[in-house]
Amino acid sequence: MPTSLDVALEKVRNIGIIAHIDAGKTTTTERILYYTGQIHKMGEVHEGDTEMDWMAQERERGITITSAATTCAWRDCTINIIDTPGHVDFTAEVERSLRVLDGGVVIFSGVEMVESQSETVWRQADRYRIPRIAFVNKLDRAEASYAGTLAMIEERLGVRAVPLVLPYRDEERRLLGMIDLVERQLLVWRGETLGAVVETQEIPDALKEDVERFRGMAFERVAEIDDRAMELFVEGKEIPTDLFHDALRRGCIECKMVPILGGSAAQNQGVQPLLDAVVRYLPSPLDVPPIHGHGVDREEVRHADLAEPFSALAFKVVTDRYAGRLVFIRVYSGTLSVGGHAFNATSSTGLRVTKIFRMHANRRTSIEQMQAGDIVAIVGSQTVSTGDTLCDKSAPILLEKINFPEPVVFVAVEPRTEAEFDELLDGLTKLANEDPTFHIRTDETMNQTIIAGMGELHLEVLVRRLREEFGVFAHVGQPQVAYRETLSEAIRVEGRFSKQAGGRGQYGHVILQLRPLLREEGVQFEWSVKAEEIPKGYRTSIEDTWRATLTNGPLAGYPLVDIGAAVVGGSFHPVDSSDIAFRAATSAALHKAYDEGVFDLLEPIMEGEVITPGEYLGEVMEDLARRRGEIRELQSRETVQILVVSVPLAETFGYATRLRSLTQGRATYSLRVVRYDTVPEGLKEQIIQNRGY
Ligand code: GDP
Repeated sequence: MPTSLDVALEKVRNIGIIAHIDAGKTTTTERILYYTGQIHKMGEVHEGDTEMDWMAQERERGITITSAATTCAWRDCTINIIDTPGHVDFTAEVERSLRVLDGGVVIFSGVEMVESQSETVWRQADRYRIPRIAFVNKLDRAEASYAGTLAMIEERLGVRAVPLVLPYRDEERRLLGMIDLVERQLLVWRGETLGAVVETQEIPDALKEDVERFRGMAFERVAEIDDRAMELFVEGKEIPTDLFHDALRRGCIECKMVPILGGSAAQNQGVQPLLDAVVRYLPSPLDVPPIHGHGVDREEVRHADLAEPFSALAFKVVTDRYAGRLVFIRVYSGTLSVGGHAFNATSSTGLRVTKIFRMHANRRTSIEQMQAGDIVAIVGSQTVSTGDTLCDKSAPILLEKINFPEPVVFVAVEPRTEAEFDELLDGLTKLANEDPTFHIRTDETMNQTIIAGMGELHLEVLVRRLREEFGVFAHVGQPQVAYRETLSEAIRVEGRFSKQAGGRGQYGHVILQLRPLLREEGVQFEWSVKAEEIPKGYRTSIEDTWRATLTNGPLAGYPLVDIGAAVVGGSFHPVDSSDIAFRAATSAALHKAYDEGVFDLLEPIMEGEVITPGEYLGEVMEDLARRRGEIRELQSRETVQILVVSVPLAETFGYATRLRSLTQGRATYSLRVVRYDTVPEGLKEQIIQNRGY
């Protein structure tokens, strides 16, 4: 059986292919798998059989939802590709893949160039300081602009771009090949080999000037970060290519520069130079900073070193029809063999690893051992959830949790028949185990099962998976917005609980000062009362009651957020006071606040872009206005108009269908929730009434 030990750590690349939906991520990934020998036939995206999109419904939708990991080899390196989804509803998936990557390939469409969603994913990658390479795709399209995309990458994303290629086109703007700027040669892909054979030719005369200009720009930029290269550059001498590659590698790993490649994935042009660049410039696990975590009583560090204790992060759980529950993990340090024991530091439980798989697009190979730098899937881990740390029990470490946003949309689901209820719950629970942004709860008052997620599409996909993977059909209600409530004016309230019924009485008395906080400040609690008034021992009871009450706001039962409470006064009785009495007193005070306070309803607001051909601009704008949409900016590019908008989530249900029918399917949009804002007065009343309050 092959083990991973054959590959030296410096020869490993853990990368993600990151892109805005439709930029060509699926097509490019598939070409990569083909040229690296992982797959033996090429599917076309529109035929719905690409290797990465192996879930039936992904095929149908043509988008990649699950973060599948796949391993391939290029030159003497092993490349692990973590697939990242491009749709905004799945941002949490993007974030969690980013967490375990060492480097990224960001794909831009040379036609749409840098769209707001590309910017979003770029900023996410910035947060994790991921070294990146950019690939400008779709250069076979006449309206595509390599130089335009390059300039926009610099301007909008604020990076130093280092162009490594230039497209070579004929008079009709057909793409004939790509020029390798460093080697000064023209690369031409042989169509009959599906681009597997690349020929090198002389650079055509007409392009020589452009080549020198772009090449000069690339070399000058690289000289900026390397003293020796700078010396040569200043003296007007040629910088040797080895020095160029080394310096650019450093610049890229330090996130100071972005090498720019390009081509046409669909026409099989430009993919091999991209793979060369992955190997050349993106970091190995040895080139990225060591990972930090919490040890038993101090901060711990783990280096990508086989001799260090084992540590790994579970970043994805998938229920596989054949293999059962697969947990995808990134190993940061040490080694662990099949049959070995690991310690789940998150849940403080032990587990035995019964199988380790190296995953390919749609098959897997069993391996004997995993080691630092690996991305593998393990079996035998019922208790491991996404975000858990696995480690050596004798050297415990807890790596930073992956943060997931709270769901913003929910719907009620019902089984077709009462008898199917358990199956429904079972399926939903399995899906929720895989996806931390998908929640299930029971609404006691309505006697309903509620599922919540990041958007309408997210929930639709989950309901479909329920049907296709678990054979459970569910009736789904109308999507509902996860509103929140908040206090809008400070208020002081008093609660007293006092009972004298023979024997020992009950006595508790609190005075609370409640105040509004800024958006996203959450919930705060302060203890500002003298021990003579209320002994500290009652603090927990008071605080717990306060937090429990907040889950059910006064307006319509939505959670109360961005609110602070200070216990500023009260009294107690040495004999009669008890925790229960203080709970009751706090509850009384809060009910008074609920009755007398002024509260607002908050709703999630989405921001993003709607891109439409110019002729539909009027209809699209009118429709947005009806949806309480605000147009922040209007840009025109080529034949399309780009509307930068903000619109309440509540108004976006069914938007996909509506936009399609308004524009003959020619407009696209991407929106994501960015904040919560106050609901306008009239609408607020309506929402409250609809909830039956
Ligand atoms: P993803 O959503 O980023 O995974 O993008 P896909 O790979 O599914 O591609 C989106 C659409 O663009 C599909 O219709 C592809 O056929 C098309 N496409 C992808 N790459 C190219 C390209 O290089 N040139 C052209 N003209 N179309 C492409």
